[in-house]
Amino acid sequence: MTATQSRHIARADFPIIIIGTGFSGIAMGIALKQAGIDSFTIYEKADDIGGTWRDNTYPGAACDVGSYLYSYSFEPKPDWTRTFSPQQEIQQYLKHCADKYGVTGHIQFGSELTDAVFDEASGEWTVSIKKNGRKKKHQARSVILGNGALSTPQLPDITGLKDFKGHMFHSARWNHDVDLAGKRVAVIGTGASAIQIIPQMQKIASRLKVFQRTPAWIMPKADRPMRALEQAVFKRAPQLQTLYRDAIYWRNEMYATGFVVDPRLMKAGEFVANLYRKQQVKDPILRAKLTPAYTMGCKRTLLSNEYYPAMGAANVDVITTGIDRITERGIRTKDGVEHELDAIVLATGFMTTDYLSKLNLVGRDGRNQNEVLAEKPEHYKGITVRGFPNAFLLMGPNTGLGHNSMVFMIEAQVRYVTQCIEAIRNRGLKFIDVRASVQEAYTARIQEKLQKSVWASGCQSWYLDKNGRNMAAWPGYTWQYWLETRRLSLSDFEQVPLKVSAAVPATA
Ligand code: NAP
Repeated sequence: MTATQSRHIARADFPIIIIGTGFSGIAMGIALKQAGIDSFTIYEKADDIGGTWRDNTYPGAACDVGSYLYSYSFEPKPDWTRTFSPQQEIQQYLKHCADKYGVTGHIQFGSELTDAVFDEASGEWTVSIKKNGRKKKHQARSVILGNGALSTPQLPDITGLKDFKGHMFHSARWNHDVDLAGKRVAVIGTGASAIQIIPQMQKIASRLKVFQRTPAWIMPKADRPMRALEQAVFKRAPQLQTLYRDAIYWRNEMYATGFVVDPRLMKAGEFVANLYRKQQVKDPILRAKLTPAYTMGCKRTLLSNEYYPAMGAANVDVITTGIDRITERGIRTKDGVEHELDAIVLATGFMTTDYLSKLNLVGRDGRNQNEVLAEKPEHYKGITVRGFPNAFLLMGPNTGLGHNSMVFMIEAQVRYVTQCIEAIRNRGLKFIDVRASVQEAYTARIQEKLQKSVWASGCQSWYLDKNGRNMAAWPGYTWQYWLETRRLSLSDFEQVPLKVSAAVPATA
């Protein structure tokens, strides 16, 4: 077979499988289309597009990153209804993008990835997809996981979860059939989801009991409806919208200085947040309960104008005594008090650190990716892992943020992955696999930076895994990640051509 023939085969027969239709899966599809690559299928386990913006339908669900930044750079939307957009509007935006860029037709709904196994001889992934209870195998040259870290609800480790006779559901699986008006409702958790839910529950519940383990740092949210005039100006002068987007971006980037350069700078933010709490919470006992005892930023800093007033409302109890167990009738705290309830909302977060465990990705040496990561927690740019050729992660390890828009990070990753795929196809490669030495050096550099970050300042957060290692956050400015991923350096990878004799050896 000549080199031209092998290149031809590589181009013509290069099926790609993408998992998930959140911001990352859709962006990946769009990027491939724009690169002239049509040979991809997106498998989505649900019946609709949207990822986290499809699943999180709880009352008050909205973004805490400004709308004009929390959107694709290539698809500006001049008419966002608010400065911080509500969930439904973001989901609609994603659907619009998928339609406009021709990606919707590539999606197979109701299709869940169960496992993907790499075969070194053929350079192919055999991907099992479950649809309507039946598993089917598909061959792919590349697998791209856009399933995200915030998709599997974390149920709390509390005794008696199954004993409760009332209604109970997780914030990301809201049961809209249950009318909570006039009911006795509990919310467990005071994280990013809870602080949006609590003000809505306070308005309708007869009694709301908030079970708080750790208070969050809360800052005011510059949220307001967009004026018709502003929307019209952005429509007619897109450059102004770009300027506005850039302004939000650079303001957010400033905060990274405290997160990753010198956490002592977070004192300035703490000063503002303390002042805000003092203004909003008049009762000193409640204020003390709501005052965090860790460095701001160590857990996600939250934005809300409605949270403190809700927590101080007459129908709300903030309970800081630990939970002993859940009973048939409610929640019993460690002081022996049983709080009788009609409904319990578990706003207890997601399985973030071992989110890959559900996907059985089996690489070159027959080992599962999760197993490999548990033994050797290394990756390259949060996108690839040695031993898993032509497989790419979106929103993978150490790419999460506490200060800016994930959509920016996703676009950087998608650009990088597209370059990888173009290189494999155009050069007639069977596969590329990051060199072990490159991966090791990269991980060491990232982990060293993380040691100095605010996430290492001593709190328990979902950024840290059970060994206290931060496999979630990106320890830098987002423009630094953009620089890291801007250009693919193929020499970072072992390159195996379709014709084995011409292999570039893995010297790493
Ligand atoms: P989270 O930030 O992990 O918060 C979970 C909450 O549940 C925490 O307050 C935690 O307390 C509490 N909790 C967990 N287990 C508990 C237990 N057994 N007993 C008592 N309390 C318990 O989860 P989340 O609020 O769903 O947010 C997750 C992430 O989603 C956020 O960090 C953010 O990245 C994203 N998010 C974003 C937005 C947005 O607007 N962009 C909105 C919602 C969520 P401890 O703090 O003590 O562990």
